[in-house]
Amino acid sequence: MYENLWAPWRLAYIAGEGERSTAPAPPLKLLPGGDESCFACRAVADDRKRDRQNLLVARGKTTVTFLNRYPYNNGHLLVLPLAHKDRLERLTPDELLESQQTIACWVDLLESTMKAEGFNIGLNLGRAAGAGLPGHVHWHVVPRWHGDTNFMPALAGVKVIPQSLDDLWDLLHKAWGASSH
Ligand SMILES: [Zn+2]
Repeated sequence: MYENLWAPWRLAYIAGEGERSTAPAPPLKLLPGGDESCFACRAVADDRKRDRQNLLVARGKTTVTFLNRYPYNNGHLLVLPLAHKDRLERLTPDELLESQQTIACWVDLLESTMKAEGFNIGLNLGRAAGAGLPGHVHWHVVPRWHGDTNFMPALAGVKVIPQSLDDLWDLLHKAWGASSH
């Protein structure tokens, strides 16, 4: 794996640490079945005013979208059911349908806003398959551009992510709000 070099976000993160520690968040009311050790469940239950800080970029009826805090590429999204479920067969038909429609919508929006030229879309089920959040099913949507694999990675194993997560959240949150999803 490449180490991501991403100065704008790291600076913002370091600057925001003190702020967070002086203002403890109120206890969250998790959804039924929610797991308080799961970042997705915590963000879903959190005040919408903190969606940007939580990198929660779009809320649907049964599905939610996050920016991946550790992206493989600029614009890397995670699409999840709101409910904390660890297996595909536990998803309801509505959750399955809306998650796939949400992915389709993001493909469209990432093409129009970021000029994405291709996508890797997939699901890692279980730790053995590399799931970073094994208790909560999530699809990865990774936009691709011609040449994105052979520019910086060839240099010292460092990959550059050019856009900060805050800027990306603003861009995609606005695009989602304006779309007919
Ligand atoms: Zn969860």
